[in-house]
Amino acid sequence: MKVAPPQSADFWYNIQSMHQEQEKRLLIDVARLAPEGEDLAGEADIVDYEQEFVHPFGGVRYRLHAQQFGTELLVMGHLEQDFTLACSRCGKDFDTTVHVDDFTVSVEVGEEDEWADITDDARESVILAMPTYPVCDEACPGILQEAEPPADDRWNALDGLKV
Ligand SMILES: [Zn+2]
Repeated sequence: MKVAPPQSADFWYNIQSMHQEQEKRLLIDVARLAPEGEDLAGEADIVDYEQEFVHPFGGVRYRLHAQQFGTELLVMGHLEQDFTLACSRCGKDFDTTVHVDDFTVSVEVGEEDEWADITDDARESVILAMPTYPVCDEACPGILQEAEPPADDRWNALDGLKV
């Protein structure tokens, strides 16, 4: 059976409904993908990477171009995810957005495949793009040092004795 060319609305309907049915996945509807490729944009809740100092919130926002070349599906574009991170200098929590500007994944698709699942690739790219030493502000002074204790004359006197 020949598959009709995709209609944008149908395309989106399918992507959205698959999200709901298959939990939190980022899927490309290859059975309906236009031969010249398609631009996809949306949000998918796929980054469940929680650590003591790392809390993602909201979904991954994506703007992708997906195109199939023979048995290869090429997906390229931009991903971004909001996080609450702890500052590596002062320890305070702050909100930031992690961007992946050059997300690229190539997926082998068979004749029978209706969907290509790029969830793991997208999640991994976001996690790899996270800063190793996040800072709340480039000018963050770090944990402020306690004021210098007042000089104690008695220690000075000891110093004098050692000499
Ligand atoms: Zn800080």
